[in-house]
Amino acid sequence: MPNTSIDYQAFKENAIQGRYVTNAQVLSFLEKLPADFIRETIGYSVEGRPIESVTWGKGKTKVLSWSQMHGNESTTTKALFDIINLLQSQSAILNVLRQCTLKIIFILNPDGAEVYTRVNANSIDLNRDAQKRSQPESKTLRKTYDEFKPDFCLNLHGQRTIFNVGFTSRPATVSFLAPAHNVERNISPSRELSMKLIVAINQVLQELIPGQVGRYDDAFNENCVGDAFQMLNTPTVLFEAGHYPGDYHRERTREFIFYALLTAFKTLALGEVSNFSSKDYFAIPENNKLFFDVLIKNVQAVDKSIEKVRDIGILFVETLCNDHIDFVPKVAEIGNLKGFHGHKTYDCMIDEELNELKKQPYWDSVKG
Ligand SMILES: [Zn+2]
Repeated sequence: MPNTSIDYQAFKENAIQGRYVTNAQVLSFLEKLPADFIRETIGYSVEGRPIESVTWGKGKTKVLSWSQMHGNESTTTKALFDIINLLQSQSAILNVLRQCTLKIIFILNPDGAEVYTRVNANSIDLNRDAQKRSQPESKTLRKTYDEFKPDFCLNLHGQRTIFNVGFTSRPATVSFLAPAHNVERNISPSRELSMKLIVAINQVLQELIPGQVGRYDDAFNENCVGDAFQMLNTPTVLFEAGHYPGDYHRERTREFIFYALLTAFKTLALGEVSNFSSKDYFAIPENNKLFFDVLIKNVQAVDKSIEKVRDIGILFVETLCNDHIDFVPKVAEIGNLKGFHGHKTYDCMIDEELNELKKQPYWDSVKG
């Protein structure tokens, strides 16, 4: 049964929008929560910012979710606020979700969130620190995991605009991975459960964004948190919130992540995850990197003595500027970019029209 009958707009936390989401917003959101949400400061970042968790429900299936371990990947954090709003409502689905105990860590990397970087204040990628646990944020996540003993983990991330699904021209609006637990990428029982949960989520997402769900490659890296938790036999799913056409602020993708999270929680609450087939996981196409933000095709010099025709691929660099994110265009590639796609594409191959244009007065004036 689809979950999309739940009216997302009724639960969206409108006070928090855009790409720049910081711990200050988390703290003021959590202050307003009623007592049945158990709030806890589970640790502190390198720069001393509190890392906050909220626990809801007393059900037997324990699900641990954390977002923004990469500080500039804020979309899933926004969706978590919306989920918490749903949990405060009178929605009938709560009777189902109460079969779970949900523990949510909002921003695992609050220092990175503050300055909009992937890494923490010591320039460490926390998703490569799962074994060493050299950073206070990594220790905090592991301590929470050890104490809570989750049955399932959701590792919530965001991905760049470059990713497309398979070899199509569709953006990977949401991607998933059931991380490997060894180099051979064997399918352990916990990994299989992760795959099945992704299949359950994908079924719902295909109704919303057909052809826009991708799968990440499963190369094993024990330093990644998902792989490390799979090694401990805890099924873990990696979420990646990606690009939806025209949605650079990721407000539409936020909605899809809301439905994805809701489906995950509901499927786990109902104990239905085993009903799905891990074979369908492999039917989800892998992601490729075939997108530019802007693709200008067949650029040719007006001067015909320069014969060369080229394509120009432009990527937007996300830049923190006075409490919001600017998207600053930079040329990423010049050359033959056949097979690539643009979120916006300009094709300049208009020989005939160009010749017509050249007959007009404008061209005389530009030629001086
Ligand atoms: Zn990430």
